[in-house]
Amino acid sequence: MRVFVISDIEGVAGIVTWGQATGGDSTLFQEARLLYTEEINAAVRGAKAAGATEIVVMDCHGAGGDYDFNSLVPDRLDPDCEFVVQSEWTEYTTFLEDGCDGALFIGMHAKAGAETGVLSHTVSGQAWQDLRFNGVSVGETGINAALCGHWGTPVVLVTGDRAVCEEGRALLGDGLTVVDVKEGLGRFSARMKTPQRARELIEDGARRALADLSAVAPYEPGRPCEIAIDFSSPDRLREYANRKGVEVTGSRSLVVRGDDWWSAWSGFFF
Ligand SMILES: [Zn+2]
Repeated sequence: MRVFVISDIEGVAGIVTWGQATGGDSTLFQEARLLYTEEINAAVRGAKAAGATEIVVMDCHGAGGDYDFNSLVPDRLDPDCEFVVQSEWTEYTTFLEDGCDGALFIGMHAKAGAETGVLSHTVSGQAWQDLRFNGVSVGETGINAALCGHWGTPVVLVTGDRAVCEEGRALLGDGLTVVDVKEGLGRFSARMKTPQRARELIEDGARRALADLSAVAPYEPGRPCEIAIDFSSPDRLREYANRKGVEVTGSRSLVVRGDDWWSAWSGFFF
């Protein structure tokens, strides 16, 4: 069984501020990296217990600078996984193309505007206000799930705060195993499980989720696919306005279309 662990830092137990998620030499970030890495290790242990024979980890956290998609502490990673550092988010697809049995999403955060989503955002902390696939509002769980789904891989586990667990179930169905490690009180505050307890729950959740790969269907937003984005302000639209296939539909909104989700997304995002 081949398992993909896709991860972000904002949904890790113990993390509630941008300072913890912003790459750099700060004690806060360096401590957060360790918390993040240990939740990944918990998922890897759970995957092994479920019978995984090949486990690839891909950090999807844009921490900034050389820490972009490179926030894990390599020396602390479980030696039974391999890990990918990509230069652009959603760029690495080889493991999916080669055939992957299931994906585990670890440390996820809720989409932009989620009421009690800790560090909630979609793609950009400030620029993206809403993202829709064929009219369905999604966050980064939806983006990563669509990426996996395009190559037929189901997402069977989402961990993070309670808001993203609810978001994941609403999008992917009740068959999705979720582990909420914190309950947001606001965007920058939460009641949390301790990191040690969170890791126990994540390990157990990964093992249980991978025991039934048919519990969740691979996510398919529909064909053809229209991706719509509302930005927070008109200047934020400019970065994307001239990209391939983009149709500007308002002072701060665009749509892009494709025969399927991947052709629409990959055409404009990179
Ligand atoms: Zn992130």
